[in-house]
Amino acid sequence: MSENKTTPPLVATSTFQRRVVVLGATGSIGESTLRVIAAHRDQLELVGVAARSNHPRLAEIAREFGVRHVGLYDEHAYTAARTNDAFPAGTSFYSGLDGLNTLAALPEADTVLVAVVGTAGLQPALTALAARKTLALASKEILVLAGKFIMAAARAHGSRIIPVDSEHNAVFQCLEGHPAATVRRIVLTASGGAFRDWPAERLAHVTPADALKHPNWSMGPKITVDSATLANKGLELIEAQWLFDLRPPQCDAVLHNQSIVHALVEFADGAMLAQLCPPSMTFPIQHALLFPERVAGPDLSLNLDRAFHLDFRPVDEHRYPCLRLARAAMKAGGTAPAIFNAANETAVAAFLAGRVGFLAIPQIIDKTLAGTKHFEPQSLAEVLSADAEARLIASQSLSAHA
Ligand code: NAD
Ligand code: MG
Repeated sequence: MSENKTTPPLVATSTFQRRVVVLGATGSIGESTLRVIAAHRDQLELVGVAARSNHPRLAEIAREFGVRHVGLYDEHAYTAARTNDAFPAGTSFYSGLDGLNTLAALPEADTVLVAVVGTAGLQPALTALAARKTLALASKEILVLAGKFIMAAARAHGSRIIPVDSEHNAVFQCLEGHPAATVRRIVLTASGGAFRDWPAERLAHVTPADALKHPNWSMGPKITVDSATLANKGLELIEAQWLFDLRPPQCDAVLHNQSIVHALVEFADGAMLAQLCPPSMTFPIQHALLFPERVAGPDLSLNLDRAFHLDFRPVDEHRYPCLRLARAAMKAGGTAPAIFNAANETAVAAFLAGRVGFLAIPQIIDKTLAGTKHFEPQSLAEVLSADAEARLIASQSLSAHA
């Protein structure tokens, strides 16, 4: 983006400029991020993008936003991209995990948004923090697996983490200006997912297509299933614990059908602050990218000229056993949350592939947690080996649920 040095604007507009790298640019969060950047081209510049393999979409993005640095995790896609004439001339290509790390430390970037699904974003998130970038964090797996190491890296390098997930971003907003010691607890809201109004007996027969019909949000398939089991809320409680330096009993969830209140913070005096906005990820993404600036975004805000309800009810952990298991993993600490996450990913992938039923998901997680020793990890390598072991044990238990 060029700057006019001779004629400064008459009205003092913001000179705010963030140069952003998006890892996972072709996914659901990635596409919402592009909408936010497109709405603020004067303030946000996209300088790097990465995806697993969708190079045709990355070529469109590169042309539309003038992006020069492009990463493809998959080697074949990387090779194909280099001969894809749809990319602008002069594009630099990067591949594999090394490529993601290079993008995460790109000298011309100051903000790295990590929205890669799975664990591939873990090392790049640490790289971004070590390079003193602001880490806008969407990927759940990163804090669930490596919260201890990520928060330590942020402290050691003085780098900021701004949560992108709507609930954590809401807590971040509610906490602004409040000392940590005044926080009694945080409460994340959960929509209850696709089956919240189904009788429990029907849950044994739900199909992947049923589970992918989320009542409020449009998201990737894995997280949509996690919303129906509330495993997603469990992962979010674990993330919140790390992000906001809380003890497990201070992290709560409540069912809230409308997905308008994203989180509440209860303070020591019993007062609560809540953050409200429509269920669109552009709100938290824009907040994270432009923080602390607030300007109009691409989506309309809530319309208070018409009547609407905000309902809240406690979570029944019998109906949502994945939440109970996640809480147990959070309390156990160490590698237990990583084991929970690995078992859940394995079980959800098997459910989406039609190999196991919906109710097998918590059973597989339970068995895996019981069958894997958890311990306090001293390195990322130890976490990743616990993750691999849990995936193996979870896979072995799949056949019993087929
Ligand atoms: P998605 O499946 O729609 O997109 C995933 C993106 O990650 C794609 O761009 C894909 O190419 C990329 N990717 C996958 N593996 C990769 C690899 N090895 N290297 C590089 N890129 C890779 O997923 P999503 O819904 O956008 O979610 C992304 C992350 O954000 C997840 O961790 C999810 O839990 C979290 N999240 C999503 C939402 C949401 O509303 N979708 C909300 C909160 C948090
Ligand atoms: Mg969320």
